[in-house]
Amino acid sequence: MSTTLDRARAVDDGLLGSAHVAACAGFAEFVDRRVVPIADDLHRSQYTPPQVIDELGRRGLLGLPIPAEYGGGGCDAVTLGLLAAELGRGCSSLRSLLTVHTMVAHVLARWGSRAQRETWLPRLASGECVAALALSEPEVGSDATAVRTRVERDGDELVLHGHKKWITYGHVADLLLVVARGPEGPTAVLVERSRPGVRTRLITGMIGIRASMTADVHLDGVRVPADHLLGRPGLGTTQIAGTALDLGRYTVAWGSVGIIAACLGASVAYADTREQFGAPIREHQLVRRLISDMYADYHASRLLCLDAGVRRDRRDPAALPAASLAKYTASTAAVRAASDAVQVHGANGCGSEYPVQRYLGDAKVMEVIEGTTQLHQVGLADHAFHEFGGFK
Ligand SMILES: Cc1cc2nc3c(=O)[nH]c(=O)nc-3n(C[C@H](O)[C@H](O)[C@H](O)COP(=O)(O)OP(=O)(O)OC[C@H]3O[C@@H](n4cnc5c(N)ncnc54)[C@H](O)[C@@H]3O)c2cc1C
Repeated sequence: MSTTLDRARAVDDGLLGSAHVAACAGFAEFVDRRVVPIADDLHRSQYTPPQVIDELGRRGLLGLPIPAEYGGGGCDAVTLGLLAAELGRGCSSLRSLLTVHTMVAHVLARWGSRAQRETWLPRLASGECVAALALSEPEVGSDATAVRTRVERDGDELVLHGHKKWITYGHVADLLLVVARGPEGPTAVLVERSRPGVRTRLITGMIGIRASMTADVHLDGVRVPADHLLGRPGLGTTQIAGTALDLGRYTVAWGSVGIIAACLGASVAYADTREQFGAPIREHQLVRRLISDMYADYHASRLLCLDAGVRRDRRDPAALPAASLAKYTASTAAVRAASDAVQVHGANGCGSEYPVQRYLGDAKVMEVIEGTTQLHQVGLADHAFHEFGGFK
């Protein structure tokens, strides 16, 4: 296992400042010590024990990007990305928790009323309250504007009816950010999971992020006070979900970089020790090619994530397409890397004794969440025509 100092050297690519290198080394040390040893168990049991979530909260990791005035770490986007990469290297389910929790916190900080920010952000920052985003439905995926869950006003209350599906950590989250259709269109509403009428069912048997307590969420006449409306009615997808998904795809991009790093670590170690034809398989050129492709994908994806993070921190409008490019590149590269990592491991890669089988399932999920590969391709093609139109 690498020491913190080794890790600091490994993450110091000459582009990060010393504060980022030190933060990353600290995240890496935590992940090596507390996450890597339990990741396979979480995957196999399809369960995240509450004490694991508590520990992430106690260490301030869930609240890292929440503004300091609300008790969070107030970190910049690059630091958040480095944390997502390290958590993703150890356990994609826990990285998913960081993603959905910080998506909701980010939206609250950006669009919440003063009362909503003061009520929720300190609790989200400490991890006392865990949040999830409930946008997708059985019939509603990529086209989130088509949500069918309904919200209507009844005096001083909002009443919700509908069915949300695939909600990461939805089975245990205390607070759900629900996007529902109101008279003005898709509308965002804060719903405590403890409200009467909220019923969740754990979805098991997923291909990846199997410990992420993904849930079906049924909302049967759920009543919340009218002040649980977030932002303005009708802006639930364009502004609220849009803001959340932009941050989500940024952290998923970094999480995918973490998966590639894990694939590299496992493949290099295996290729060093496994012998065939009288030599460690690292000597066979075609095995070296698998590893060199992973290595190139790792650095290319990491640089795109860093570019997206730096732009985010500068409030550059180009941060949005940069996050899409980073997510598309890193998630597709993670699937290639994980598939090649299984190949390097041969039969051992197909079994459950080594973690590369887990990486492959986790990587595939990265291509589906926060905008599918195809949705990013459609958007990136638009940027290509815009940027390169008129070039001869
Ligand atoms: C593990 C996991 C966790 C998730 N967590 C959450 C969560 O926490 N909260 C939440 O709200 N949702 C969550 N989701 C749902 C996720 O956001 C959706 O799966 C995603 O938006 C895609 O929607 P879909 O699966 O319905 O696919 P669809 O939208 O039905 O797409 C099916 C296929 O058609 C393609 N396609 C669709 N439209 C186009 C187009 N215009 N052009 C080209 N191709 C297209 C897609 O790329 C895909 O290949 C999760 C999903 C998974 C698998």
